[in-house]
Amino acid sequence: MSQRMQTVRILALTISNGMMQRIRHGQMESAKVWVACRDELHRCMTERMKWPNRDSLQKLTKGRFAMHSQSVQMVCHAFLANVDTATQLRKAGRSEIRYPYRDKTFYPLYWPAQAMSIQDNKVILPMGRGRASIVFDRPEWLDKPAACKLIWNRTHYEAHINVDIPAKEMQETGIKATIDLGQIHQCAVTTNTGQALIVSGRGIRSAKRRMNKMHGEVTKLQSRCNKGSRRWKRLQLARNRNALRLERTIRDLRHKGTRQVIDFCHFNRVNTIYVGNPDGVRKIRTGRKHNQRMSQWEYGKDIDYLKHKSKQSGISSFDGTERGTSSHCPICGHRHKPSGRNWSCPVCGFKGHRDLVGSINMHDLAFGEKPTFPVSKDVTYLRPGTSARSVFAGRLQRLASRSSRPDQGQATGLLLHETMSSTTSGVIP
Ligand SMILES: [Zn+2]
Repeated sequence: MSQRMQTVRILALTISNGMMQRIRHGQMESAKVWVACRDELHRCMTERMKWPNRDSLQKLTKGRFAMHSQSVQMVCHAFLANVDTATQLRKAGRSEIRYPYRDKTFYPLYWPAQAMSIQDNKVILPMGRGRASIVFDRPEWLDKPAACKLIWNRTHYEAHINVDIPAKEMQETGIKATIDLGQIHQCAVTTNTGQALIVSGRGIRSAKRRMNKMHGEVTKLQSRCNKGSRRWKRLQLARNRNALRLERTIRDLRHKGTRQVIDFCHFNRVNTIYVGNPDGVRKIRTGRKHNQRMSQWEYGKDIDYLKHKSKQSGISSFDGTERGTSSHCPICGHRHKPSGRNWSCPVCGFKGHRDLVGSINMHDLAFGEKPTFPVSKDVTYLRPGTSARSVFAGRLQRLASRSSRPDQGQATGLLLHETMSSTTSGVIP
C-alpha cells in the first residue's frame, strides 16, 4: 500500500481579466523560448553540428526571456522530448514525421514543483524576478507545491497539476485478462477463469456524431459571414463551448468505461491484463462515413487510461497486436470474417459474441493460453455510467444471502470469503 504514483488533475481557473492577460503574455513568451529552441535545432542541422541538448539550450536561453528561469528550462525539456519522439518515430519507419518546424505564438507555461508556492489558500506561480506572479485560489486537494502547467482551453485557462496518489501493491494470483477495444463496445474483457465483461461504446459514438453535426452546422452558418467579423466570432465561441462540453462528456464516459473494466478485473482478482492495440485496423480505408468514425476512434486514450488505472489498482498491464484475433474460431481455428455482432462458425457450429471472440483469442497471443469461451451467465454487459462497483456489490450480496442458507456447502463460503476480501480490502479509487 506504500507505493505512490503520479496523476494529473485539471483545474479550470476562475481569474480576473488582468490575470488572464498576465498568463496570455507569459504564454507568448513561452512560445518565444520554443521558437528559439527550434531555430537552434535548425541551425545545427544545416551547419551539420551536434544537435542541441539540455546544457546548450539552457545556455542559449538563459536570461533572455521574461519568465521564471525554471519555466524556461521546462520548455527546453519539452522541446527536446518532442525531438526525441520524432527521432524514434522516424527510426520506426515513419519518414513523414518532421522535426519541430512550426512557428508558435502561444505555448503552455510550466513550473516544476519547487517553483510553486502556496500562501493563505492561494497558489503562486512566479514569472521571474521583478515581474508579477500568477496567482489563483488553491483547490482543496492541493496541500503542497506540485509541478503544473497552464494551458488555454479555447474558452478558459486550465491548470494541469501533477499530484501524488497511492498505488496498490501487485499481487500474484495467476489470473489474466485480455481486453479487446472497439467502437460499438468500448472494451470486451475476458479472463482465463471464464468471466467476461462488455462495456458499451454507443454513448461515446453518439456524442462524437453530435459533435460532427454541430461542427457542420456552425461551419454552414459561418460561411455566410466574413471571417473574423463579430457574428463569426460569436459563432466560433458557441462552437468552442459546445465542442468542449461534448469533449468533457466523451472523456467522462471513457474514464467511466475503463474504470468498469478495472473494477471487473479487481473483482475477479486479475493481476495481469493485455490490451489489444488496434493499430493497423485503422489504416484500412473503407468509405467516407466509416473513415470518419475510425479516425475519431481514440483507442490510444483507452489504452492509456487502462494502463494508468490498472497501475493504481496493483494490476500489471501491457499492450500488443490484436492481429487476426477477431477472424478465427476460438474452438477449431477456422478463419472467417464475422458480419454481425455474433460469431458463428460454419465448421464446428460454435456461436458466441463477436467481441468476446476477439478477446478470448488474444489470450493465445499474449499468454500462450487457450481459455474456455465464457458461458452467457458469466458475461456482464454494462454501459459506462452504471457503476460497476454497485453491480458487483449487488452480486456479492446475492452470493452472501445464498451462502447463508444451510444447504450450501463449505466451498461456497470459502469462495465468497475470498471474493469479498478481494473487493473490500482497500478502497477502489
Ligand atoms: Zn469452429
